[in-house]
Amino acid sequence: MTLFATVELAPRDPILGLNEAFNADTRTDKVNLGVGVYFTDDGKLPLLRAVMAAEKARLEAQPARGYLPIEGIAAYDNAVQNLLFGADSALIQAGRVVTTQALGGTGALKLGADFLKRLSPEAVVAISDPSWENHRALFESAGFKVENYRYYDAASQSVDFAGMLASLKALPARSIVVLHACCHNPTGVDLSTEQWQQVVAACRDNGLTPFLDMAYQGFADGIDADGLAVRLFADSGLDFFVSSSFSKSFSLYGERVGALSIVTQSREESARVLSQIKRVIRTNYSNPPTHGASLVATVLNSPELRALWESELAEMRDRIKAMRQALVQKLAEHGAGRDFSFVLQQRGMFSYSGLSAEQVERLKTEHGIYAVSTGRICVAALNSRNIDRVATAIAAVLR
Ligand code: PMP
Repeated sequence: MTLFATVELAPRDPILGLNEAFNADTRTDKVNLGVGVYFTDDGKLPLLRAVMAAEKARLEAQPARGYLPIEGIAAYDNAVQNLLFGADSALIQAGRVVTTQALGGTGALKLGADFLKRLSPEAVVAISDPSWENHRALFESAGFKVENYRYYDAASQSVDFAGMLASLKALPARSIVVLHACCHNPTGVDLSTEQWQQVVAACRDNGLTPFLDMAYQGFADGIDADGLAVRLFADSGLDFFVSSSFSKSFSLYGERVGALSIVTQSREESARVLSQIKRVIRTNYSNPPTHGASLVATVLNSPELRALWESELAEMRDRIKAMRQALVQKLAEHGAGRDFSFVLQQRGMFSYSGLSAEQVERLKTEHGIYAVSTGRICVAALNSRNIDRVATAIAAVLR
């Protein structure tokens, strides 16, 4: 028997599978709402002007390509902390936040997971029901048992908050709770300020370890407003983790620009925690890549480029909101026969549309419109040219 003779074919990634089917579809008016990226109104992946300016400056400077420190570019790590915790954060000043550059938000989650596995090998990881599909796989591959906590209530198209609290309270102490810091993927349904306060209290009362996943800062209400959950946990005195990503907010998906931040009790504790995270990095990929993080650091540390980036981010945020408005209005015009105003309350790139798997299938076969079978659609893939077709098709499959 040769080495690979018994290797099983792994299941296909459902979203990548959808993209393949979309690419193979020959209809010229097909629309892909299954993706998880932001497109401009022209249907293109944007290259931000702030990024182009930083890239030009970097090329002109012709920097040598040495290794970075294991924890990444210091100016980048500091800029990440300021965005997440606020520039005037007492925790940062007290040396209680450890931040390391990571390979996107995914890489940050994995670094945190590997470190946590050494700290609390028996801990259970709880993720929202539903959650980003990679959360479960990622924590399971780090060796954890993964459970769901109640989150989305399909009947009310909002959070089953009583259910969520009950789930959190039932978890054993030391359990790790993965929370979407804003713009919940896949539902678009976030917690209110009061609900976040209660989640913080539940984590404290039950000795849980919060792990905030911040993949969309700036896509709901703005950079600082979207930092609300992180700031509430920062005020709580708890130890917690934050994975963050610039994939979406800088449109730098393929450059893999993210970070892991860990809040500790003291500067001295931070030094010990950092030494362990560096060990995880060193034994996985030694040190992070330079290009993307240096662009982000340049933009965030230059007042001019930062202002430009903030305006470009606001443009993305506003366009998504305009598409939510247009979708709701056009669905009504096309006689969808259902109240879709909940779409306006959802935040970020996604919307749980409430469409069934069967209706999603009909959208694809009859209309060439691709969405995830759960009914998740990417609002950031709607534009002024496809919105009418999408609304007409949704109304048709609902009749
Ligand atoms: N967490 C969530 C909730 C996400 O939606 C995503 C990206 N789709 C990630 C993490 C991963 O981000 P990245 O592409 O930067 O690895």
